[in-house]
Amino acid sequence: MSQVKVTIIGTGYVGLVTGTCLADIGHDVTCVDINTERVRELNAGRIPIYEPGLNEVVASNVAAERLRFSSNGPATVPSADIVFLAVGTPQAQDGSADLSAIWSVVDSLSECIGSRTLVVTKSTVPVGTNRAIRARFHELLGDGAPRVASNPEFLREGSALRDFMQPDRVVAGVEDDESTAALRELYEPLLNNGVPFLPMGLESAEMTKYAANCFLATKISFINEMANLCDAVGADIQDVRQGMGTDQRIGFAFLNPGVGYGGSCFPKDVRALASVAEAHEAASVMLRSADAVNTAQKDVLFEKLSRHFDGRLQGRRIGIWGLAFKPGTDDIREASALKLIDRLLEAGASVCAHDPVAMGNVRAIYHDRIELVDGPLDVPVDADALVLVTEWDDYGQPDFARVAQLMRSPAIFDGRNIYQPDVVRSFGITYAGIGRR
Ligand code: NAD
Repeated sequence: MSQVKVTIIGTGYVGLVTGTCLADIGHDVTCVDINTERVRELNAGRIPIYEPGLNEVVASNVAAERLRFSSNGPATVPSADIVFLAVGTPQAQDGSADLSAIWSVVDSLSECIGSRTLVVTKSTVPVGTNRAIRARFHELLGDGAPRVASNPEFLREGSALRDFMQPDRVVAGVEDDESTAALRELYEPLLNNGVPFLPMGLESAEMTKYAANCFLATKISFINEMANLCDAVGADIQDVRQGMGTDQRIGFAFLNPGVGYGGSCFPKDVRALASVAEAHEAASVMLRSADAVNTAQKDVLFEKLSRHFDGRLQGRRIGIWGLAFKPGTDDIREASALKLIDRLLEAGASVCAHDPVAMGNVRAIYHDRIELVDGPLDVPVDADALVLVTEWDDYGQPDFARVAQLMRSPAIFDGRNIYQPDVVRSFGITYAGIGRR
């Protein structure tokens, strides 16, 4: 493998992990971000996001002078072999993907890039975007335009380093052999255990990313719909899940009933692909249904609480364990906990919550409208109900006797079905899960 000079534009969850891991396998990486405060923090050795293990790998690669951070993109781009686009593509007002950051980067790149560089889109972008990026470079630079490739990212927050270093596959949307060879060379150290490297057309690569995310989101919505049906008919979704997941054609992954999926990917990607389908007058029935089930699922805990208190939540004190959209991250984008908090506050309840790493992000939204406490056992104090929203290990084995003692009226609403109902009830605590008898 020869060392590749890489510039990453956008140093968020994906850009920072990508840059750090590429440096760690020996490449020379500069991570660029428009957010100068973020770059300052990174240069001071502080990591602006929570991702297990990231601090150490960033520090060792900075020390080895393979990784650096800059807010001056144009200075690094001319010498780069590969420039990655890893900026955000959030949801626009109409549900489609907002590509304004992508276009702004493409326009500024065209002032400093040459034809020897390969521009690789890592951001999740709708089908057709890479071809449009290519056309834009050609319009602005003619024969001096860079090559363009799509290389969607499949990492999961919370296990991002492992996912990047041990990928299930590397998808490369490419238009020419030179780009295929450049991406294969870049990833070579990760491909030696028979990891599939999958060259395909630009549109197929873009579509692969959306199809994969939408399938997983649909699987979650499916099991959530089954859980709600179990609630209605008196079956237990945990038994049903066992009976389904042991079927090798189905498997257990993403078959966990809960409070709906959140995060920066599934919700927006499902809606963005549905928008693409509708723009092409193609069917989006599955996608719209997965989204609708998920939106409704985020209300399930509130409805259970409301029923438990006969609709009288005014003045109740509700404790919440877990705020991040899933364990292992401080990301609260589209987190189910936020919707629950909003509805509880609207209903006149007070909220006391804890999360191992996401409280700073939550405080920035609610300020003193909710109470955020230092430890898990501060949450049940004087609470009328305790709700488990995010299944961090910190909440996995609580001292139920102590919890029952601390609460005003002991009731646990288990949004992830992590507790044994009989065990919880044996401490005199009312228990409600999702789809459990
Ligand atoms: P993020 O919001 O954490 O980071 C985006 C970064 O881009 C920010 O730091 C922002 O300041 C920077 N940025 C915006 N405009 C810029 C510009 N003009 N120049 C330089 N920097 C700029 O986003 P993320 O979660 O890392 O996601 C990035 C992309 O990767 C999205 O398209 C997302 O859908 C996709 N993706 C995300 C994940 C995930 O788990 N987060 C996984 C796979 C794919």
